Amino acid sequence: MRILITGGAGFLGSHLSDMLIGKGHEVVAVDNLITGRAENIAHLMGHPRFSFIKYNVCDYLHVDGPLDAILHFASPASPQDYLEMPIATLKVGALGTHKALGLAKAKGARLLLASTSEVYGDPLVNPQPESYWGNVNPISPRGVYDEAKRFAEAITMAYHRYHGLDTRIVRIFNTYGPRMRPNDGRVVSNFIVQALQGKPLTIFGDGTQTRSFCYADDLVRGITDLLVADSDKTVDQRTDRSTFLTKSSQPLPETIHDPVNIGNPRELTVKDIAELVLRLTGSKSAIEYRPLPADDPKVRRPDIRRAKMLLGWEPQVELEDGLRKTIEYFRQVV
Ligand code: NAD
Ligand code: UDP
Repeated sequence: MRILITGGAGFLGSHLSDMLIGKGHEVVAVDNLITGRAENIAHLMGHPRFSFIKYNVCDYLHVDGPLDAILHFASPASPQDYLEMPIATLKVGALGTHKALGLAKAKGARLLLASTSEVYGDPLVNPQPESYWGNVNPISPRGVYDEAKRFAEAITMAYHRYHGLDTRIVRIFNTYGPRMRPNDGRVVSNFIVQALQGKPLTIFGDGTQTRSFCYADDLVRGITDLLVADSDKTVDQRTDRSTFLTKSSQPLPETIHDPVNIGNPRELTVKDIAELVLRLTGSKSAIEYRPLPADDPKVRRPDIRRAKMLLGWEPQVELEDGLRKTIEYFRQVV
């Protein structure tokens, strides 16, 4: 397949590029490098099946030649980044997703949207199944990311229902691994860098909030499984517009086009993560408590039954093993 990845120079986009090239596909990466880094894809430059275009995907998107699939991953992703770039985040979720869908339609390509567990907001159910509609504060600082992704999901489903586009939506839960930026502000990168530098680990709030962490290799495997899964994996009655318009209040069947959670269901408190990082690095760093950011979700854990059922996917990398590899990476770069 010839596959376009928006956000291809980012943490996840670069791992996806590696995996897809390894499987014999051709990858065109498009990225404006606002949070990504050229060094993430430096090893791919010059590869006969890889090309890079520096471009803002909110602008009219044109790519020469055929495309079989588009993976739309462009977006600031860490809270620190999207709080610093609120308008760019809303624009890439809305305008960027619209451009990516338009290009997919023009090329007859499949489109896979990188959505997020953040569509569940500060969830009132735990773990979160895909059927949960979420608890998002649209006007909080975090709302820029959550609502951008909720809009992105809505327009993706509209292109699927209205235009019959073959779309996929992955709701990605907290993911970690090599190529995270040391200063991107996410909890795993912050704690590891702080531990390696002998600085205090900064716990926001009292550290009882929970997250569930998926290693990057597990995540990209799940995403590629979703990308290549057959369109008729389950019966889809929604491509018929009249059915959609007249029967929209009826329960809809679950299909490969519905969102799929990909994440690791092992749930830890932030305090647990700090202690684990201290143990695995052998660091003597202290722990320092800081104020909790506004609307920081109190719990987060994926219900992955749909991924298991539709794709036969589940994570394989133990947190301790993934963290050891990530710590090794950060030892080289900080
Ligand atoms: P990242 O910041 O490393 O990668 C995002 C990439 O998108 C960057 O390279 C950035 O330069 C690029 N980009 C942003 N706006 C752009 C624009 N307008 N035009 C072109 N390129 C643009 O983040 P990541 O962790 O690799 O996340 C990738 C995707 O996965 C994002 O859509 C994010 O919302 C989603 N996601 C990630 C996680 C996670 O834990 N890493 C969790 C949930 C969802
Ligand atoms: N967090 C923390 N210390 C840090 C960075 C983050 O305690 O130095 C907390 C943050 O408040 C949140 C959790 O760790 O409760 C995960 O934060 P992250 O930014 O990694 O991602 P989120 O899941 O909030 O999008």
